[in-house]
Amino acid sequence: MNHPASKFQVTDPVSKVQFDVEQVRKDFPILGRSVNGSPLTYLDSGASSQKPKQVIDRVSDYYTREHANIHRGVHHLSQQATQAYEDAREIIRGFLNAQHSHEILFTKGTTDGINLVASSFGRKFLQAGDEVIISTMEHHSNIVPWQMICEERGAKVRVIPINRAGELDMTAYAEMLNDRTKLVAVVHVSNTLGTINPVQEIISLAHQQDVPVLLDGAQAVPHMHVDVQALDVDFYAFSAHKVFGPTGVGILYGKEDLLNSMPPYQGGGDMIEKVTFEKTTYNTLPHKFEAGTPNIADGIAFGSAIEYYCQFDEAEIEAHEQDILEYATRKLEEIEGVAIVGTADHKASVISFNLDGAHPFDVGTILDQLGIAVRTGHHCTQPLMDFYGIPGTVRASFAMYNNRDDVDALVAGVKRAAKMLL
Ligand code: PMP
Repeated sequence: MNHPASKFQVTDPVSKVQFDVEQVRKDFPILGRSVNGSPLTYLDSGASSQKPKQVIDRVSDYYTREHANIHRGVHHLSQQATQAYEDAREIIRGFLNAQHSHEILFTKGTTDGINLVASSFGRKFLQAGDEVIISTMEHHSNIVPWQMICEERGAKVRVIPINRAGELDMTAYAEMLNDRTKLVAVVHVSNTLGTINPVQEIISLAHQQDVPVLLDGAQAVPHMHVDVQALDVDFYAFSAHKVFGPTGVGILYGKEDLLNSMPPYQGGGDMIEKVTFEKTTYNTLPHKFEAGTPNIADGIAFGSAIEYYCQFDEAEIEAHEQDILEYATRKLEEIEGVAIVGTADHKASVISFNLDGAHPFDVGTILDQLGIAVRTGHHCTQPLMDFYGIPGTVRASFAMYNNRDDVDALVAGVKRAAKMLL
């Protein structure tokens, strides 16, 4: 279903609200709470972002006044819920600048979207001897589905190497592409290193050989403008919960022709056209890939999250986050014993580091006692940790609601940890 283009102008530059981090912070109720006796310093948005009141209220309003199952009811509530859900799809279409709303598939999240492509595209197009290219810095969710389907089909996963700064070796990548390559699946922004990969170049090199590209956009969408048509990307997966929306819902964008050429992922209600015991025919896009009752409330609230985010100019958010990233990098580098892991030229809001000789878990525990939430461990990138020869890192990840006070709290906390542990 295509809605009139004028209905949701999520990218209309004229109607943007001036970005002011202190105003933004007021929209996120959780940022006002204390943890362990200190004001919360939330630096774990890479794992999951916090939610603005608009999103929280949307879930509550939906269940209070609007809930019914969608797509099959003639009654008022069902039609209203269907409209709200499809409106959310259209908001997200506008956000990604996809051509059609039926190219926007609701999923459970990034992991689910990648599994959908691995399972459906893989079963249809992967043969023995074929190759799928991924990279050293992939999240497990963009490694394991490819290993599973390649094992099943007798195909092979090939891995683009990186340098110590955490940047892809593009020469090696170009050499890897050959007539056995059936798909390239790489992360847009690394959740562990913060590296922003040269996705435009990755895509154009692959397309020169007619190879489609999937981008794992989980860490890109909350930090930068993503236009799937400008990128000419074939599949783009991300999760609502990292972009100020609810958990349990995400998006897989896929080009219409590719999605039409692929078999369904799961069977069940909603994805069928006609079922008989002899033969079943399938529904059209997007429903062919959306079996069963979806996560209606969270899908609708996902639309509200995107509307909330899009009220600001993404360039202003990016500039603010770059300022926080540079400030935090400079301040952390001044602390003796701190070694930053991931020093690419192009980075988004993530800093991974280690304190010389201290276990990341111990650093994280001391920070937690001060109300500072960071992530510690391998960040679901074990092969990347193996590359660096470390068990894990401490990771501070920033979102648009973080300010320099958050960085100052982190720096003071790391200094304290250094005193206690080194
Ligand atoms: N890819 C990247 C780069 C991620 O950061 C994450 C979440 N940490 C995922 C994939 C998986 O996202 P989800 O758990 O929401 O499916």
